[in-house]
Amino acid sequence: MKNEDWKPATRAAQALGAIDSATGGVVPSVHVATTYVRNVDYESIDGRTYSRADNPTYQSAEALLASLEGGAAAMCFGSGMAAAAAVIQSLKPGDHVVAPDAMYYGLAKRLREFAVGWGISVDFVPTEDWDALAAAVRPGQTKLVWVETPCNPVWTVTDIATAAEIAHGAGARLAVDSTVATPVLTRPIELGADIVMHSATKYLNGHSDAIAGMLVTAKDDEFWERVGQQRAYGGAVLGPFEAFLLLRGMRTLYLRVNAASRGAQRIAEHLAGHEAVTRVLYPGLPDHPGHDIAKRQMTGGFGGMLSILIRGDAAMARGVATSCRLFKPATSLGGVESLIEHRATVEGEGTRTPDDLLRLSVGIEDPDDLIADLDAALARLQN
Ligand code: PLP
Repeated sequence: MKNEDWKPATRAAQALGAIDSATGGVVPSVHVATTYVRNVDYESIDGRTYSRADNPTYQSAEALLASLEGGAAAMCFGSGMAAAAAVIQSLKPGDHVVAPDAMYYGLAKRLREFAVGWGISVDFVPTEDWDALAAAVRPGQTKLVWVETPCNPVWTVTDIATAAEIAHGAGARLAVDSTVATPVLTRPIELGADIVMHSATKYLNGHSDAIAGMLVTAKDDEFWERVGQQRAYGGAVLGPFEAFLLLRGMRTLYLRVNAASRGAQRIAEHLAGHEAVTRVLYPGLPDHPGHDIAKRQMTGGFGGMLSILIRGDAAMARGVATSCRLFKPATSLGGVESLIEHRATVEGEGTRTPDDLLRLSVGIEDPDDLIADLDAALARLQN
């Protein structure tokens, strides 16, 4: 059986089966060298000249993610934002971008600010609405359609296959921020996406101990080459130690994401009937507007992220967050430990997130303990 024939969870656990050729080590070594010697003909060895362009430690994580996503190649970056920026900066002045009207707020802000200086026009539309998306693309001028699914912080689900059809019909590429779904639950390239982006800080690393970003491409084409130039000359590379932590985290990706999904589903079902909660936003609940698409597009679960609207205002929501003992009141998501966040406070001025919304990142703890923790914190709203 060849490594490519192994099931994804096996490929991840074995990091594609790589054995260190110098030592027989079952864990790839951390390569800290910043530069590489040339041979007697003054040629670089294995194409490596300088670590800002390439480093063997992050190549192990890249090979694994490309395999799990079914892509032609992958690239690590110093953060998820750096990965997304490399895609956007590979566009040319005059190009048009369509992006979701609800998406990770940091990236929306970056898109708006960068677009002005770079001569790119951006339209933000509800990408889950096929008619709105089809009306927003400008054939010949739209070069990138960006979607995020499920999408922060209300977990809207965009149909990737339809978005790909609309993007390609206009001559644009489709990029999918698949940070929350991960390749465990959704494989955007199989559905027609051209680029998959991850804030690898989240589920891929999974332990809240490395900031990282990754891109995967369906084709190793001229656009991908431009993205590579952005990394090499923009310099937003990942350090070798972070690359090591990332690969170590990816080896347990399947266990962690499946556990988080099971926990989130249980918590969502429990809170759906809770007196202190007016609404639960989770694609795994039948009343979620994206449930039917999620059922088709996501395999094996609906992810570890959900939001709740509580019976109370912003101060009361923050009070619930700080009253939890297991759920930590911190930003970010996708780690083994559960987090709770008052998103409107963190997003700050201009946020469109409702004041009564709390975002939950469900970790891999026992769901019974997590439910008891939330019930105790929500009880303060009922007194
Ligand atoms: N995309 C999503 C969905 C995110 O949640 C985040 C970070 O929270 C990012 C992108 C940005 O990633 P990073 O923080 O690794 O730069």
